[in-house]
Amino acid sequence: MGLLALGTALDWPDAKQQAHLVRAWGIKQLLEIWNKAKGKERDAMLWGDEIEYLVVNYSKDEPKVLLSLRQADILKALADSKTLKVTGDCAPGTEANADAGNVTLPVFHPEFGRFMLEATPGKPWGIDFKDLLTVEADMKLRRCIAKDHMLSNEHPITLTTFPRIGSPGVFTEPSYPVSGPKLRSQFVPDEIANPHIRFPTLAANIRSRRGRKVQVNVPVFRDENTPWPWKDPTVNYDLHNWPEDDDVRNGAAPDNFIHMDAMAFGMGSCCLQITFQAKNITEGRKMYDQLSPLGPILLALTAATPVYKGFIADTDVRWNQISRAVDDRTPEELGEKPLKNDRWRIPKSRYASNSTYISTDSRLRPEYMDPNLVIDPEIKQQLLDGGMDDRLATHFAHLFIRDPIVIFNEDLQELDLTKTDHFENIQSTNWQHMRFKPPPADNSIGWRVEFRPMEIQITDFENAAFSVFIVLITRAILSFDLNFYIPIVKVDENMETAHARNANLEKKFWFRKNPFPVRTTRRGGSASRSASGTSTPNSGSSRPATPPLGPVEDEYRLMSVNEVINGTAYAKATSKEVTEDAEEGEEFPGLIPLVESYLDSVNMDVATRCGLARYLDLIRKRASGELWTAAKWIREFIAKHPGYKKDSVVSEEITKDLVGAVIEIGEREKRGLGIDDLIGQVPDLEKLFGGFLKGKSPCGGGQAALEQKLKD
Ligand code: ADP
Ligand code: MG
Ligand code: MG
Ligand code: MG
Ligand code: MG
Ligand code: MG
Repeated sequence: MGLLALGTALDWPDAKQQAHLVRAWGIKQLLEIWNKAKGKERDAMLWGDEIEYLVVNYSKDEPKVLLSLRQADILKALADSKTLKVTGDCAPGTEANADAGNVTLPVFHPEFGRFMLEATPGKPWGIDFKDLLTVEADMKLRRCIAKDHMLSNEHPITLTTFPRIGSPGVFTEPSYPVSGPKLRSQFVPDEIANPHIRFPTLAANIRSRRGRKVQVNVPVFRDENTPWPWKDPTVNYDLHNWPEDDDVRNGAAPDNFIHMDAMAFGMGSCCLQITFQAKNITEGRKMYDQLSPLGPILLALTAATPVYKGFIADTDVRWNQISRAVDDRTPEELGEKPLKNDRWRIPKSRYASNSTYISTDSRLRPEYMDPNLVIDPEIKQQLLDGGMDDRLATHFAHLFIRDPIVIFNEDLQELDLTKTDHFENIQSTNWQHMRFKPPPADNSIGWRVEFRPMEIQITDFENAAFSVFIVLITRAILSFDLNFYIPIVKVDENMETAHARNANLEKKFWFRKNPFPVRTTRRGGSASRSASGTSTPNSGSSRPATPPLGPVEDEYRLMSVNEVINGTAYAKATSKEVTEDAEEGEEFPGLIPLVESYLDSVNMDVATRCGLARYLDLIRKRASGELWTAAKWIREFIAKHPGYKKDSVVSEEITKDLVGAVIEIGEREKRGLGIDDLIGQVPDLEKLFGGFLKGKSPCGGGQAALEQKLKD
């Protein structure tokens, strides 16, 4: 998260007064950069990932594991060690050390939670396939360097959430009392948030704009001994410190839900994001659209979030919790009261799946758009007047229905068109699952697209695998001109579906039947038409007429994650939980086979192909259910723990052992050791990774088989 300059952050009532000005200046800055950059061509294919960590305080001899709030000290230590030398613990035996001399050192960033860190590569990756094989080592190096700048009992871990954040008792080091003036949470202290004024202001102004605390309610998992109906035993109904303490007395904490009341419960989650630079704006807009329908699939496949506030949840992913944790909509915008002071009803939180397509692709049918999209018509008109086309103007006019939340007084003196700060203010607090990133004000880099739905994975091997997979998918999309369009509201529906327990195996998602650009219909001999529907109807009799596009509903159907990822045939052979119902001629090829066709079409040595095969194998097996998601593994870990009473409670002891196992896995990974000897000690570990962490047997199908395949 980029930090705004320090200054005087306005409290909500004052910020609201300035919202219109920030939007007006933001649009001017957007038009400035748009005019400067719309013709930018031939930018390099670059990409980069972001890894977010929780920092925990763990030692075998201490009874519990705590969140460490030393983010600022750790970042300072990282900044002070000028060369971040790859020495000491990070050196011996690590892959990154092999060419430590050439390593560009990673960059560390603050995050919302004061127990979090973010790390990105020192510079973005290029198009070279060898780069794809460097990512994993770089991720390991980042984790190792981070650890080297922590206390001996602090560890960077990549669980999405800390299982007992907000539970009664001590869960941070140091510990603070709850119910501070900014968050007014009855579960977490204000000190849980990064103290930079931007973050507490963000939380306070969201609460203030909403008129009550955020309500992050997650259905609790009902186990054999879970009392039912279940009342969250940690909710205090008798607090009278803040007006917001009335929230729970007014029904904020319904039965059978784990109740949370602060931004930290959402924005304190870790995710895996990938940003791509396109060669020009047209390609960027296309990538944005084509990656959109993949979002919910990858969310379900990376599921890693089954525990909140010390209880097992009935959902597997973090998404909706973050969405609710920053939902600043007023009762009028939510439709709870008639519109009087606010301008419109808004169906989604500012953290939500994205609501528009933006490409100039002729295959984008009007039917794919959301007919109820809320936009600011004045903003749209200004963008149109400034020369922007309707589709992109619509996208930004949708983002700009929101108020800026954090405004610094110092930035309101005069409009600076050599900056994009006001534009970024609105843009960067629209947390959608795809983000279209215009170049910065200096136009030094190109148009970028960010893929944001994925959950962080426990190991760097897995994080590298999912990053590489998404990169290869974008290559396949561009190379084969693939078409994944479905109505955008179906993507929303899929996003909800992705939350269900075991959605990756048990649920079905709307997905396009035919991803290929040209559909060939053989009528009267040789008609072939573009699926874009742009060919003009043929009135002559010598050639058969081009049939009109069929109903949109015929273009997509429900598929399992297995079918989307591995293809219909593979899914039919391996699906246990659901039956695949592809009809004759509706077999979906599968994203992995599409990626493999792409890899077959480019020159690559066997070793590189082998290295990539290791990643694709992980994804393939997660999708088929042969391997488990982290969510499933965490559930099983808890279920098998001797301290678990089948009552949905994740105790301090269970949390300590779970985090201990995750740290141990990380240590083995860092040292390039196998996890064989952990199998048996840590339940079901082989189900999470298969043989992948054992060592270097890169090719899933075997080196010989691959060499044969490459020869064929
Ligand atoms: P944000 O938090 O706003 O998404 P970050 O700076 O944390 O942004 O991360 C952006 C990612 O984009 C990093 O992985 C970085 O390496 C990568 N990146 C930087 N410049 C480019 C570029 N020109 N093209 C593609 N990716 C880039
Ligand atoms: Mg981040
Ligand atoms: Mg970032
Ligand atoms: Mg960010
Ligand atoms: Mg990001
Ligand atoms: Mg994880």
